[in-house]
Amino acid sequence: MLRGIGASQGYGIGRAVIIEDISTDYSAVKYTDAKTEKDRLQKAIDRYISETKELAKMIEISAGSKEAEILEGHIVMLSDPFMILNMKENIDKGAVAEKAVDAVCNMFIDMFSSVDDELTKQRASDVQDIKDSLLKILLGVRSVDISSVEKKSVLIAKDFTPSMTSRINKENVEAIITEIGGVTSHSAILARAMGIPAVLSVADATKKIKNGQLIIADGFSGKIFTDVSESNLEFYRKKQNEYLARKDSLKDYLNKESATKSGVKKKVYGNIGKPEDVQNVIHNSGEGIGLFRTEFLFMDRSSEPSEEEQFEAYSTVARAMDGKEVIIRTLDIGGDKEIPYLKIDKEDNPFLGHRAIRYCLDNPVLYKKQLRAILRAAVYGNIKLMLPLVTTLEEVKSAKELLEECKTELKEKNIPFGSVLLGVMIETPSAVLISDLLANEVDFFSIGTNDLTGYTMAVDRGNAKVRGLYDTFNTSVLRAIEMTIRNAKQAGIEVGMCGEAAADVDLIPTLVRWGLDEFSVTPSSILQTRKTICECE
Ligand code: PEP
Ligand code: MG
Repeated sequence: MLRGIGASQGYGIGRAVIIEDISTDYSAVKYTDAKTEKDRLQKAIDRYISETKELAKMIEISAGSKEAEILEGHIVMLSDPFMILNMKENIDKGAVAEKAVDAVCNMFIDMFSSVDDELTKQRASDVQDIKDSLLKILLGVRSVDISSVEKKSVLIAKDFTPSMTSRINKENVEAIITEIGGVTSHSAILARAMGIPAVLSVADATKKIKNGQLIIADGFSGKIFTDVSESNLEFYRKKQNEYLARKDSLKDYLNKESATKSGVKKKVYGNIGKPEDVQNVIHNSGEGIGLFRTEFLFMDRSSEPSEEEQFEAYSTVARAMDGKEVIIRTLDIGGDKEIPYLKIDKEDNPFLGHRAIRYCLDNPVLYKKQLRAILRAAVYGNIKLMLPLVTTLEEVKSAKELLEECKTELKEKNIPFGSVLLGVMIETPSAVLISDLLANEVDFFSIGTNDLTGYTMAVDRGNAKVRGLYDTFNTSVLRAIEMTIRNAKQAGIEVGMCGEAAADVDLIPTLVRWGLDEFSVTPSSILQTRKTICECE
């Protein structure tokens, strides 16, 4: 048996599929002669084009022609004689085919990313995709296609990036297992959003588990059974059925009011990372979106999303929620959320470094694109704007100034925009300690217990060695939460919670007693959270 952290509830029983990290290191490839290298290059290009054409056809059927056009664009780009000629010239100078692809693609990536035009910047990420695919073909290393694994698969990887997770077909995946991460890491948050059981931080899982092996993953206790006996299987099948029945019974809470027995009304909202996640919130009858983690729009690409792309994403969510509140949190990068193209300097303490609101205020061009996109999207729904990782009043004031500048710019250009309420996340001890002052500056608070627990306890959220200290029930964290709620109430502003603790059935009654107004949880926890609130006195 292996052990990890149970990070998304449920039981998965199925065959192991190891998703290996594919290396595209070609340092061992030896140059033979120019003709052989050019032949290898041409074959790789032909194969890439024919495979991409097939994929584009499939995508057109499943997702529509707009998505397929992106892939067709890759084919056009790679068919450019200038690009191929450049690669061949590199080969003539003694480069192996891999090196030629790498050098020429990098040249295009640098060129496209330096142009100040969003569409051109987007081309850089297309070339990055082309480069990765060609290198894999040349080296003969192909990764498992996550989107088409067989039914009843248990996926095992070092970690799941958001783009890997977005390709998971939840009908076929019983559970996911990773070697790193904890309950509040982003792979855990995504797994819970999809309702897939997950066990994280299983040391050497990709080596200790064999492809095709029958395994049981317990998303509650974090146990992984690799040597599955008949009695094991019977026991866990029964547990799985009981769990599914329990989950089914929560359907009684669909579209019910979230009110305590004495009639105190609360709001139960959902957390999302991508516009598509809104459907999960609607299916679970979430009463709003309490946290839209916009950094996911910036991840797994090689240049930042344009103002238009962001406007499209935010307005799609606002429209889908049909007048219900949507709290959009501005870019929260840094810490464990790396975005290579933003070129954040390597820091010794990234969680204490140039991240979130600090980075954004120092990069006003990037930040204002996001603020304008949010203001414009507010025409289509009930949007609130929220600042992450606030530690000082000055940060809030500076963000307000930028917001005013954005409104002036939009007015000057006659671009319509809506009004948005402004709130802050309370997720640092300093924000808690000045929450009385912050409450006079903003319209609402949302307590981010994931970070607040880490910063209060001085514990890295993802470090297994100090896991025991990462405890939201520690008196210090509970006092911080209580103080924040009290100060919000005194100032007459709303206070919610969007950290994972908002869904903790043992904490909810206390939060209700302290007067928390809004509970924003992963969509799959909405019904359980509402049930727990309804059972409070
Ligand atoms: C939090 O810190 O509690 C939070 C909700 O933000 P994130 O998990 O995205 O850091
Ligand atoms: Mg946070």
